[in-house]
Amino acid sequence: MEKGLLIVLSGPSGGGKGTLLAEVKKRGFDFALSISVTTRQPRTGETNGINYFFKTKAEALAMRENDEFLESEEVFGEIYGTSKKFVMDNLNSGKSVVLEIDTKGALKVKEKMPNAVMIFIVPKDLETLHSRLTGRGTETAEQIAKRFGKAKEEIAKAVHYDYLLINDKIEECATNFIEIINVEKLKTSRDKNKTLIESFR
Ligand code: 5GP
Repeated sequence: MEKGLLIVLSGPSGGGKGTLLAEVKKRGFDFALSISVTTRQPRTGETNGINYFFKTKAEALAMRENDEFLESEEVFGEIYGTSKKFVMDNLNSGKSVVLEIDTKGALKVKEKMPNAVMIFIVPKDLETLHSRLTGRGTETAEQIAKRFGKAKEEIAKAVHYDYLLINDKIEECATNFIEIINVEKLKTSRDKNKTLIESFR
């Protein structure tokens, strides 16, 4: 059975990750979006088990103790983590998995799973980023300033990723995303391709 691709998608809040994933899904790219665990409070409109698994600090720490996370990080003083079981079960059943995580966690995943496809998405310029962060209307001015600072730090880490997507026109961005996936599947390092090469011996 061909394993699914592990795709790590990072980018600053308001950078367009959600819109991009909705667009590629619409175009038929089948993937499971990893639902992270977080200790932060749900925002208006967020649902447990859909946006995140909302846990208490004690619950998240216990999961960390039991080695249930592929990676976990503290972001804005809250714990965020990726469920190892969710990721491995999907990959082993042949389904691609997308992780929408911060750069620190992403680089840890790449270390553990070097075949992961690392994609970073940015808005076209700093002004656009700022207006997107302000435009969401769900956070205070102080929270926005904090996120803007973090966003700039995050973008500096994009150099460690395999691919950079510029979210100017979402259609173009989605086309590029799908092209990346197609090219990644052709890599000689993929299990299916290694097996094929072997079969010619
Ligand atoms: P938010 O609170 O806005 O949903 O997410 C804040 C930050 O945490 C974002 O940069 C998001 O990508 C990151 N994040 C969400 N889930 C995870 C996770 O499981 N692991 C890590 N390392 N970061 C995460």
